[in-house]
Amino acid sequence: MTDLHTALAWAVIGVAVPTLVYLMWVTAPYGRHARSGWGPVLPARVGWILMESPAVLFWLWVYARGVNRAELVPLVFLGMWQLHYVNRTFVFPFRFRKTAHPVPVAVAAMGFTFNCVNAWLNATQVSQLGAYPAAWLATPWFVVGAAMFFGGMATNWYADTVLIRLRAPGETGYRIPYGGPYRFVSCPNYMGEMIEWAGWAVATASLAGASFFVFTVANLLPRAIAHHRWYRQTFPDYPPERTAVIPYLL
Ligand code: NDP
Repeated sequence: MTDLHTALAWAVIGVAVPTLVYLMWVTAPYGRHARSGWGPVLPARVGWILMESPAVLFWLWVYARGVNRAELVPLVFLGMWQLHYVNRTFVFPFRFRKTAHPVPVAVAAMGFTFNCVNAWLNATQVSQLGAYPAAWLATPWFVVGAAMFFGGMATNWYADTVLIRLRAPGETGYRIPYGGPYRFVSCPNYMGEMIEWAGWAVATASLAGASFFVFTVANLLPRAIAHHRWYRQTFPDYPPERTAVIPYLL
């Protein structure tokens, strides 16, 4: 099991590199970048729930089979993971407007597949393979990682909420978001998400966590750059001091 787990985590990191390069050239075709030629689509809510559900349900199933499932630290990791993914899967899709762009079945299928692999890697790590005694909670790994995780999550949730509130019910267009981290970057929701999973990788001190962080960057960095370019092309009065996703840098 350990060999398979390690090999799969390295495979995710290996796939992340060409994914990053590909997505720099071909922007993932959902949301404002939706376009024809990507096959049938699903309503946004249905697409998000289907695509993300393995990260809640399959994760729980794998976790429950682990020998360490009743230990304190694995239970803390279970709570952290599920806090993020129950929101992403079953709350967030009901918060954004019904007018959100539909999701291509191809994108939802790729997301579903990735979430299955990622759920197995990370749930197996915390409930079966990792050695996390109760004292782990006082180590710098956990303290720093958890601070990053919750700081990233707060940024992500706040930034998503600002975007959701930009549209009145029934509206379809886009506006410039302002306030908080939007003073610095165009996509603080992606910045928060990347910090969050960096924090998870540190808190679990694991290759599985690192592979998820690397894949998240491969996915969201090109999308942030595409969003930023789109904002600048679409709004002549777009704040010039903003960068895409890393304040002052990128
Ligand atoms: P977007 O920022 O593209 O869109 C989020 C929602 O806000 C959509 O409903 C969108 O509508 C709406 N919206 C966005 N910008 C504006 C605007 N300027 N004016 C009005 N409405 C706007 O985010 P994603 O859909 O790509 O991602 C959603 C969440 O999922 C994020 O928190 C992200 O971090 C997370 N995510 C995580 C991934 C990972 O690898 N861990 C991968 C992908 C997403 P519309 O759909 O019509 O554009």
